[in-house]
Amino acid sequence: MWINWGGNQSNHSRACSPESLDELRQVIASEKTPRIVGSGHSFTPLVADATRVISLDLLPTASLQASSENLAWLDANKRLKELSPALAVHNLAFRNLGDINVQTLAGAVSTATHGTGAELPCLSAELQNVKMMLASGEVINSQDDPTGDLIAAARVSLGALGVLLEAQVKLVPKYYLRRRVEMGALQETLARMHELWESHRNFEFFYIPWSQKTIRLRHDLVDEPKGKAPADLDNLAVYGLRAARILGHLHPSLRRQALALLSMLQTEEDYADEGWKVLCSQRDVRFVEMEYHVPTKVARDVLMEVIKRTEANHPDVYFPIEVRKTAGDTSWLSPFQGGSRVSVAIHTAARQNFADYFRDIEPIFREANARPHWGKMHSLKFADLEALYPDYNRFCSLREKLDPTGKFLSGYLQRLLVAG
Ligand SMILES: Cc1cc2nc3c(=O)[nH]c(=O)nc-3n(C[C@H](O)[C@H](O)[C@H](O)COP(=O)(O)OP(=O)(O)OC[C@H]3O[C@@H](n4cnc5c(N)ncnc54)[C@H](O)[C@@H]3O)c2cc1C
Repeated sequence: MWINWGGNQSNHSRACSPESLDELRQVIASEKTPRIVGSGHSFTPLVADATRVISLDLLPTASLQASSENLAWLDANKRLKELSPALAVHNLAFRNLGDINVQTLAGAVSTATHGTGAELPCLSAELQNVKMMLASGEVINSQDDPTGDLIAAARVSLGALGVLLEAQVKLVPKYYLRRRVEMGALQETLARMHELWESHRNFEFFYIPWSQKTIRLRHDLVDEPKGKAPADLDNLAVYGLRAARILGHLHPSLRRQALALLSMLQTEEDYADEGWKVLCSQRDVRFVEMEYHVPTKVARDVLMEVIKRTEANHPDVYFPIEVRKTAGDTSWLSPFQGGSRVSVAIHTAARQNFADYFRDIEPIFREANARPHWGKMHSLKFADLEALYPDYNRFCSLREKLDPTGKFLSGYLQRLLVAG
């Protein structure tokens, strides 16, 4: 049985790990709806809704081929946490990364995984070319497509076009980041957020519900490592927030007092290290998440409404609300297609009832014409998505051409990609 990281999706078929491309070809041919899994860190049923879940962990590794111009062909099924140190050996690095790096490169790009930074696009935008196995078993290379359509679609594909084997990725020279973490009042952070995005390479913040306080994270380029990373207390902090929520059941003022105490205990960080080590951390406390990418102009209003509704209607929620910004790109299914967006993410603990909370908050995002993160909970279907993406139908037509029998088109993907 297969279960995703968040524990909200599962599949009861026997998992399958082909050890060669021929074996992979055979499994795809013999299964009605095979779905490829990366590290299982998506919350949506992109993988679960399959007759067979296929892991590519045992496929022979494609070797890293770095060329000039900061380009390299990478094994798409390797984890980002393995690729980053391997790239550093070649003095190269991913331009940006998200909160964690346990995802496979293929899994991360397939859902447009992003970090934060006004000038930094999501990881998918860095893909220059891909090698992919189609449902027919044929392996194709987007370099052979003179129209450029294949790569525009394959950068963010939800695993609906074929199996990503290798990706040619645009990289940057290895870099060091200075990380500064500090507490700040919500109103001040809201007033300054766009200025902070403009003045720092990476900026993001977390709002702690019921505290009126934010934790602000700034990252800037420096020449060398400096100081030491403090012990990672993020997981402990979540337990503190949960304890404050329990006190809130006794009396709301106790929650506010506990949160005030916790914010005094929050240590301010200031150190520098290699980019990937600074940007990514370990997440041990399991949660379920909804994240929408909001047009920049309305981001502040949307966020204020999300906070207001969370605090009015959902006293059991204690996970911080995360706010990031990502630069625009041109991939057909990228939520950042056409311009930068501010991402607002809400969470509940894995065992909590996330459905009521997400159902209550989602209309705020919908009204703002925000686009959902493909790997995080949302309720949108074909008609909703078609209205949000100018190239949606181009993607769907190309998908039909590459996979005419709908081999990779699970029931869930049909709801997203087929009119009806
Ligand atoms: C703790 C946690 C932190 C996170 N932090 C961030 C963050 O900072 N930023 C962000 O944007 N997202 C974040 N996410 C979401 C996560 O990055 C995405 O859901 C991502 O897709 C997960 O990658 P994965 O390797 O687990 O892929 P999976 O979830 O296993 O698969 C995702 C999709 O990729 C497809 N796929 C996988 N491999 C292949 C392949 N070889 N060929 C074709 N299709 C393939 C799958 O079929 C599926 O459609 C986070 C999730 C968690 C649980």
